[in-house]
Amino acid sequence: MFTPILAYHKVKNDFDLSITRVTPTQFERQVRYLFHKGYKITSISDFVNLSLFDEKSVVITFDDSYASVYEHALPVLRKYNYTATIFVITNYVNKWNDWDYPLPRNRNMHCSWEQLKELAAEGWEIGSHTASHRSLTQLSNSELRHELDESKCQLEKRIQNKVNVLSYPFGKFDDRVIHFAKMSGYQAACTLGHKVSKTKEKLHTLERRGVYFFEPFHLFKVKLQEGLWARCDDKKQRAITFCSHGSILLQTLRSYRNIT
Ligand SMILES: [Zn+2]
Repeated sequence: MFTPILAYHKVKNDFDLSITRVTPTQFERQVRYLFHKGYKITSISDFVNLSLFDEKSVVITFDDSYASVYEHALPVLRKYNYTATIFVITNYVNKWNDWDYPLPRNRNMHCSWEQLKELAAEGWEIGSHTASHRSLTQLSNSELRHELDESKCQLEKRIQNKVNVLSYPFGKFDDRVIHFAKMSGYQAACTLGHKVSKTKEKLHTLERRGVYFFEPFHLFKVKLQEGLWARCDDKKQRAITFCSHGSILLQTLRSYRNIT
């Protein structure tokens, strides 16, 4: 049976320059739907290690480990006895997201170590989203190794749990990145919005479907299925991912930040 892997970022009501958020109300409606339809929630590790072919399951993931996930998503998931997988940028624990759009009115806080420990204690899987959220395909071998090892090591030390899963920043990977991810001991890795070969490196190119505030509710149902409409949604995700990494606005803001 097909198991969708959903990718969320922020769960908040406030205006945000990026599109990577859902409101708490939208999130609750989506989780309630999963619950009433009888979906089981599984972690990335269980998804890759256990045989879930007969079970109606879904994986919920959060990239970037924003504090809004702790504030708004945790209470909703707790209410339905669900958990999730959260991917942490370890250099940004308990800090503002200045790696993203560097505008004063678009700041978001990342979870603290205490909040992450609480999530782990409630059964959430804690994964790595690297040390500093740099695009891994553009790094030298030693930088790449550092991004993967440092984040894994920090997380394991602080959370006191084995960290087996990785989410590639901007969903970007290539053969070299996969090779280093395996060498660093990641059992599985997730991408988002990049075309994936169906035969090669399946565990290290897990495809996800992003969920965004501008989408009507019926699109959320599409993300849980296979078929034509789901493939259209995947194409839309590729466009979103491309814009998130390559937009002129983002590049301009980054160079402005580097100059000032
Ligand atoms: Zn990210």
